[in-house]
Amino acid sequence: MKFYMPVRVYDEDECVKAHAKDIAALGNKALIVTGKHSAFANGSFDDVAEVLNDVKIEYSVFSEVEENPSVETVFAAKDKYASAGIDLVIGIGGGSPMDAAKAIALVLKHPEADPAYLYDKEKDASSLPIVCVPTTCGTGSEVTGVSVLTRHDKKTKISMVHKVFPTLALIDGKYLKGASQTLIVNSAMDALSHLYESVINAKADDYVRMTAAAGLKTWAKIKDVLSGAREMTKEDAGILMRASALAGMSIAGSGTSLPHALSYALTYDLSLPHGRAVGYFLPAFMEAAPAGERDELLNLSGFESVEEFRSFTGSVFGEQDVPAEELKRTYELVSSNAAKMKSASFTVDEEVLKQIVFWKK
Ligand code: NAP
Ligand code: FE
Repeated sequence: MKFYMPVRVYDEDECVKAHAKDIAALGNKALIVTGKHSAFANGSFDDVAEVLNDVKIEYSVFSEVEENPSVETVFAAKDKYASAGIDLVIGIGGGSPMDAAKAIALVLKHPEADPAYLYDKEKDASSLPIVCVPTTCGTGSEVTGVSVLTRHDKKTKISMVHKVFPTLALIDGKYLKGASQTLIVNSAMDALSHLYESVINAKADDYVRMTAAAGLKTWAKIKDVLSGAREMTKEDAGILMRASALAGMSIAGSGTSLPHALSYALTYDLSLPHGRAVGYFLPAFMEAAPAGERDELLNLSGFESVEEFRSFTGSVFGEQDVPAEELKRTYELVSSNAAKMKSASFTVDEEVLKQIVFWKK
């Protein structure tokens, strides 16, 4: 067994401002990586910029990261900043800017890197230091080494092969304050899927079960916020962020499984948000999983049965119809991928995969 989670995590109010010195210790010239709008609206960019000004670190801003960032975007950033003397990358936002920041920090460290570098296990995986400031509550990217990138050449999303962990994660629930209920639901369901998939996973061990159990108990506290039974408080926002980080630590240990693998083509073809695409398959995956472990996970997260969980996802996401042709493409992509077929803790053959993919038919 191995427990490797090399990220220094601070999770507290006014976290960015409280850790100016930790940021300053990592470099002299930063590249801030964000999406197009949200970081400038929720206060996260202003907090980071203020701190960098205070500690006299120069910075440039790359704010071109789209949802489900592409390899092309990573190299657009490399082309622009390769000769700018950047020695620190700060990713602010949801999983998209944080994942992009990791790949950008990798390719800026290696001037010779081309797109194939991201998918070549033989290449050196060292990167510039990375700071992550999450503003959604789902991916846990601030504590994982994974960068999921859109591959337009393959019409889907594929993680780069290198594990590039941030050095520092600065977590503060305040950035969730203005987020829509839809964004909160989509990202919190992504976190829940990480907690389930990391444990119902061929690579799960007691360390993964430890972080997942803590994450599931934490997640259970905000279930009512997702269902709309009550408004999100400041405390809830912190809990949502914490559940997401604990879920990230769990997938850092064992990875994700079939709901994630199945989600990528749906997101590519239908522009379904990540958490929602994963959530489409999650109840059927749980139904197919061995009852003992599955029910324990469901109970820890506040559900008495698979039926209750399925009805919860139905109520938070609403009706979701996926065209039959799309499901067929997804099925073919995953059934032909031997590693993905072996990723769950139980045997998944073509019949079981069909039950998970075509659950609605
Ligand atoms: P996202 O794609 O980063 O952001 C979704 C949307 O939410 C964007 O429009 C973004 O705006 C907006 N947004 C972000 N923070 C906001 C806030 N506080 N208030 C209001 N709007 C906000 O969403 P995500 O679900 O966090 O990330 C999804 C990506 O992460 C996918 O590519 C997925 O594959 C990946 N992922 C990675 C891991 C990992 O381990 N690395 C795990 C799971 C998923 P802007 O574009 O303007 O910022
Ligand atoms: Fe995910």
